[in-house]
Amino acid sequence: MANETIYFDYAATTPLDADVLQAMLPYFNESYGNPSSVHRAGQRADAAVEQSRLTVSNLLNAQPNEITFTSGATESNNLAIRGLAHRRKVETGANRLVTTPVEHPSVLETCRQLEAQDGFTLDLIPVDADGRVQLDQLGKYLTEDTAMVSVVYANNEIGSINPIQAIGAACRAQGIPFHTDAAQAANHLNLNVEELNVDLMTLGAHKFYGPKGIGALYHHLPGIMIIGQTGGRQEYGTRAGTQNVPSIVGFARSFQLARDSLPEMTPRIAALRDGIIDSTLDNVADVRLTGHREHRLANHASFAFKHVDGNQLLAALDIEGFACSSGSACKTGNPEPSPILVALGFTPEWTLGGLRVTLGRGSTSEHVDQFNQTLPGVIDRLRSVHSLVA
Ligand code: PLP
Repeated sequence: MANETIYFDYAATTPLDADVLQAMLPYFNESYGNPSSVHRAGQRADAAVEQSRLTVSNLLNAQPNEITFTSGATESNNLAIRGLAHRRKVETGANRLVTTPVEHPSVLETCRQLEAQDGFTLDLIPVDADGRVQLDQLGKYLTEDTAMVSVVYANNEIGSINPIQAIGAACRAQGIPFHTDAAQAANHLNLNVEELNVDLMTLGAHKFYGPKGIGALYHHLPGIMIIGQTGGRQEYGTRAGTQNVPSIVGFARSFQLARDSLPEMTPRIAALRDGIIDSTLDNVADVRLTGHREHRLANHASFAFKHVDGNQLLAALDIEGFACSSGSACKTGNPEPSPILVALGFTPEWTLGGLRVTLGRGSTSEHVDQFNQTLPGVIDRLRSVHSLVA
């Protein structure tokens, strides 16, 4: 068993940046006021929240009152979809929700629940073999009764990047609000909401070296009105509840640092990723790259191995000292076939064998070399056990 683990699961979460922790600390004990309080302690906390909102809005090319802080990407997705779907239904009668079969469950299951319980209809735009929206299919989903469209910017399991700008333009031409889940994209891709034609965008800080349990939703004003949560009037009435001040400060600081380091990080990480993709495709039999070869996240390598159980593969890699994932972290320990691989048309002998290897700031070429030397032997061992029991 290896002594030290090499962390290759940056799409699941990232370590908190030390500088971000320092920025957060005073708001736990020194400046602990409630931002809604009138006194000075409250106003100090409120100033920190509003300064953070300004930082985030500047990085998105948005206005401060278009940013709502939430408890994470899951809540942002729920708030965007529920808040907008209900508002559109009340105001226009539109009741058709449009998304894709390869969304994170916080989008797909939210839409399914609205369909089952609230009288909405749900349509899934087909994706191609790389999990990307087929633009030539989009038009027929953009109709008078479409309440909103939600398409993931970059897929968490297979890393494919969707043509968000073109999807946004098509939605805008029909006056249909467009939401994108940018949880995975935030560390790597253009987030200029004007350029992208995006009306609502989901972000979560722990994907870019910020704290867990804090997210943001961008929603374009004045056009996009969402029905807010009930309770206090925090976050301009969109998201009730006393704000998590230290985490909001941490969100803004980590977002700024991540965006600043992006030009230097992206080519370095993409080269390491390519080292893993090329070696795996060259040295392992019966393997397929999942997701698009070029239109994929710079840090994201993902594969399907025929006749391999992904959970056994993760356990074997863990023993060898590598922390990877079989898909999204939520699926770890779940022996079900990957719904994403099923949606991409993979047959059953492939759909249990997903592997996701995601890199980040701490990744080095030595880590990649060690992984490349280890993986083929691990796959061989698992397959020989499989052939004995099959
Ligand atoms: N959306 C995408 C694309 C994700 O990858 C994730 C997390 O893996 C989420 C949403 C949910 O993030 P959280 O669990 O932090 O709310």
